[in-house]
Amino acid sequence: MAEKIQFETARRTPDADVKQVRNAAEDKGVIQEVDSVLAAAVDGNATDIHFEPQQEGLSVRTRVGGLMSTVKEMPERTKGNVINRLKVLSGMDITKTKIPQSGFFRMTAGERKVELYVYVLPTLYGESLVVKIQYKQSATMKLEQLGMSPSVLTSYRRALARNSGLYLVTGPPASGKRTTLYASILEVLKPDLLAMGFDPIVKYEIPGMIQGKPDDRSEFTFAEAIDALMKQEPDLAYIGDILNLDEARAAIQGAFAKRRVFARMTANDAINALQNLIDMGIQPFLVAASVAAILNQRLIRRLCPSCREAYPVDEALKKELGFRFPENARFYKPKGCPQCEFRGFNGQVAIFELYLPSEELNKLVVAKEPVQSLRQRAQREGQSSLKMDGVLKALGGLCTLEEVLNAL
Ligand SMILES: [Zn+2]
Repeated sequence: MAEKIQFETARRTPDADVKQVRNAAEDKGVIQEVDSVLAAAVDGNATDIHFEPQQEGLSVRTRVGGLMSTVKEMPERTKGNVINRLKVLSGMDITKTKIPQSGFFRMTAGERKVELYVYVLPTLYGESLVVKIQYKQSATMKLEQLGMSPSVLTSYRRALARNSGLYLVTGPPASGKRTTLYASILEVLKPDLLAMGFDPIVKYEIPGMIQGKPDDRSEFTFAEAIDALMKQEPDLAYIGDILNLDEARAAIQGAFAKRRVFARMTANDAINALQNLIDMGIQPFLVAASVAAILNQRLIRRLCPSCREAYPVDEALKKELGFRFPENARFYKPKGCPQCEFRGFNGQVAIFELYLPSEELNKLVVAKEPVQSLRQRAQREGQSSLKMDGVLKALGGLCTLEEVLNAL
């Protein structure tokens, strides 16, 4: 496998007085060691690799399916060279070891192409380095494969069938927002539509969509990029994260111009996302008129179906959760078996909450009613909540109740 690996580095470190460090970093043994760690991580679908300096040596851990595990302990003598090799690959300045730096490189290992985002931070025992792996692949995840309940899926599809408006996916970092957005875009993408996207990380390439991303030397703001994208008049625009007023304004203007605009936002729940837009400075009536749907989500660990253990739901808990439970309702806990490498968990499962604007809800938004009354109204309209979706999935044995409650 090792001989098939190719690298494409973003920038070159200035060559002047770094030859010595560079030679050490490019020592054959070090290169092989780093290559094999990278290749094994990609092979095992790791999302990130952590090179953690210890008092003596360097621990290498990878995260697979949300779980960290140690893959290697490297000796003290190669510690610096391993870090430097990765810094060289990702175009960082290897003469500087006391400042945080970030870099980027691409790697082809066999059939797979990946993008690696590298971050380094000085710590007590040397530089700590993280490699985040983005698997470049065609987006093939379909909406129905994301694990939405039938009612959420049907309602969301109905909302997507509107041909204009702002579609937001919210949740904390690493909650699978991009995957959901890509699946949503695939759902509505047709050959007779012009689709354009701009996002700092292109996780998937979507056939039929023109995709761009800012690079290190970009001399424009993200909001300016969104404006420029909208000027090309796409029918469908995907614009990454909305972080500030300018970006929110560009997104909302786009949604008004008869197009579907897809974006992410970091927010605890759907109603908070509405409030965020207003807090950023968007007029409430514009928010009410442009938002087509907000999907709020979390990713939690999936229980291993081969070894999970059922237990009855006790009466006090039923009361506390405030749902009507079927008789013989059971929750499940992890155990561990060879199928799940004795972890009790296998992969991840998403829980969803879908906000769809109604006339009544929009009235409350325009009247700047507090989020609490919006939440109550949404509940009365039967809109799904994260808690309800999670508890139902816990009852179905997909995940533990504890993880659902922790994720809210
Ligand atoms: Zn198991």
